[in-house]
Order: sequence, then C-alpha cells, then structure tokens
Amino acid sequence: MNASADRCWAEIDRSALRYNARVVRDRIGSAELLAVVKANGYGHGMVGVAQALAEDAQLFGVANLEEATDLRTALLHPIIILGPALPEERTTIAERGFIPSISTFEEAQDFDRVASGAQVPINFKVDTGMGRMGVPESEALEVFKKVSGLPHIKIHSVSTHLPVSNEDAEYTRDELLRFGNIVKQFRAAAPGNFKAHVLQSAGLLAFADPLFDIVRAGIVLYGISPLPEFQKLFKPAMTWKTRIALVRDMPKGSSISYGRTFVTPGKMRIATLSAGYADGYPRHLSNRDATVLVRGQRCPVLGRVTMDLIMIDVSKIEGVQAGNEVILMGRDGNEEVACAELAERARTITWEITTRIGSRVRRVYV
Ligand SMILES: *Cc1c(COP(=O)(O)O)cnc(C)c1O
Repeated sequence: MNASADRCWAEIDRSALRYNARVVRDRIGSAELLAVVKANGYGHGMVGVAQALAEDAQLFGVANLEEATDLRTALLHPIIILGPALPEERTTIAERGFIPSISTFEEAQDFDRVASGAQVPINFKVDTGMGRMGVPESEALEVFKKVSGLPHIKIHSVSTHLPVSNEDAEYTRDELLRFGNIVKQFRAAAPGNFKAHVLQSAGLLAFADPLFDIVRAGIVLYGISPLPEFQKLFKPAMTWKTRIALVRDMPKGSSISYGRTFVTPGKMRIATLSAGYADGYPRHLSNRDATVLVRGQRCPVLGRVTMDLIMIDVSKIEGVQAGNEVILMGRDGNEEVACAELAERARTITWEITTRIGSRVRRVYV
C-alpha cells in the first residue's frame, strides 16, 4: 500500500531527527547521547527512529524488556531499560545484555544470581525527588556499596531523574547539587569506572551545568521543546495527516456529531475526516477551538471528535474534495499546528499527544 491510499498516517522526517540530535550534541560537548526511544519512539516508530539516529546516539533508552528486544533487532548499541524490570524478566535481560535500572538491593542480588557467568551491567538509580523508582537518597551510599560488592554485577552507570526540571529551577538546582555529591561519594566508596547521568530534555536545555557523562534526550529529538523559549532550535519530525472522506453542504440549524454540541449558524460546507480518537487525535479537543490545516489554511474542528471521524468547517476553502490531504499536526506553508498547541488545547502535555498516536496510523519515513 502506498501513502496515497492511507486514511491516517504520520510522515517522519529523518533529517529532522538527525538535525535535532545535532542540536543536542552541540549543547552537551563530550557527554554521551542516550536517545530515548521508548513508547514506539514517542509515537514516531521505534525502529525507524533508532535507525535514523544510530550514528548520532551512543546509547538508547527504552521502557521495558519487550521494547529492548525489538530494538536489538535494529542495532547493537548499549540499551538501558529505564523502567523497573519484573522479576520474571531478569534472566532474559541478563542473557541479552541489556542494562536494567536498579532501585533495591534485592533486585541487584537477583540479577547477580541469574547472571550466567558474565557480569550484568546495571544502571544504579537514586531517588532524589521523583518518587517512582531508585534507592532513597538517605540509603543510597550504603546500598551502592553492597551492590558494588556483588560478584556478577557491574555498575554501568549511576543516575537520577528530575521531577520539576521545567517547573521549579530552585528545586532542580538543589537536586543536581545533591546528586553530584552522591556521585562523588560513590566514586570514593567503590573504585570502578561508572558513568553518571541525570539530564533529560528540559534538564539539558536549562541545566546543562553540571552535565555529567551521559544525557538522556527524549522529546527534543522529536523536535518538540519542553520549554517554549527553545522551540525555535528544533525541527518537529512528524507531520500527522489524514484525508477528507466526505464533503457535504449543510443547511442552517444542522447539528454536528455526538451530543449535538455544535449547530450550524448558517449554511456550511462540512468535511468529514477519516481520523478520530482511535487514531490518537484527542477526544478532549472536542469544542476546544482546535483546527486542522487544509491547503495551508486553518479549518475549525466542529463538535465532538468521534472514534473514527472528525468534522471540520471547509466553507472558506475553494474546491475541497473527498481524498484531499489534511494536516492534523505539523506545518503547511506559513501555518503550523504545533504539538504544543494540541497539547494545550487538550489540557495535556506534548509527550501524551505523540505517544498516543495509534497503531492504525502508518509511520512513513521521508
Ligand atoms: C522518558 C525518560 C527520559 C526522556 O525524557 P524527555 O523529557 O522526553 O527528554 C529521560 N529519562 C528517563 C528516566 C525517562 O524515563
């Protein structure tokens, strides 16, 4: 099937992915770039993204064993599993040489037990305020010493995660100082050459001093800045498209979509798009002044977004026909529906917009 037959698809610009990686590279000097490609490459297609970034990134990050296994088919880089492994997954993780993230001594002990001969490289995680994984700061040194002593464990890296890097600069600066001190104590306590990492996208844009040894870049690689003032540095990699399935002239007083929340104030030419919330276009964009682009012009979404179809007003656009392309997110000429705009209107964050783009939506690499 070629793109012209698709009803809803996402075009991924490989050169934009690489461009964004180079922007990150310019900001992080000698640090290694860990490209975060979890959640199907933030909805951009994990393997396609990883292949595009293979020369730019030194390591890759995924959420779980399944993603790591899929990614391994595409490249041989070190792969860090950023989420906690389930007990049943540990043997396979050790066998396949993925780098698990460790939050407790018991987890490390179990990896040490299942390690078949070779050492298991681990990412030792410290909880400095995120509160979802890692060893609590107060116990970190003690646990680190015990884990370092396990014969089949090798500390690949020590890391933490920032919960408010785009919301609270004061807390984040203090957290970075605390983490820096922890890393110093670890280095003094256990000889060995582990790496330290903490910065994600917002962190690397706003707090790249200190930088540490690895930077974990996610959303910025896809061309979306978590801090609006840096957006112009990046190129959005995805253009999300659909097609007009129907064009109908509706009389004044016609109710549109479930709930009849929109009623035409006069005669209106209405197009029905072949995409809906099952493709990932948020239902929360219903009646939130969302627009799509038809021939580079903004057309309002009318009434509620339904599972497979969305209605838009095309009264102002000449000659619209079934089959015409429509941009749900992306740029056409001077107009752009940015991911940040969709996120704001849907009262969510950009990460959720792209990661929820559905499996019906074909990813086309251009
Ligand atoms: C997802 C994730 C990242 C990437 O975050 P962005 O804000 O998208 O750059 C970094 N580190 C960890 C631990 C993550 O889970």
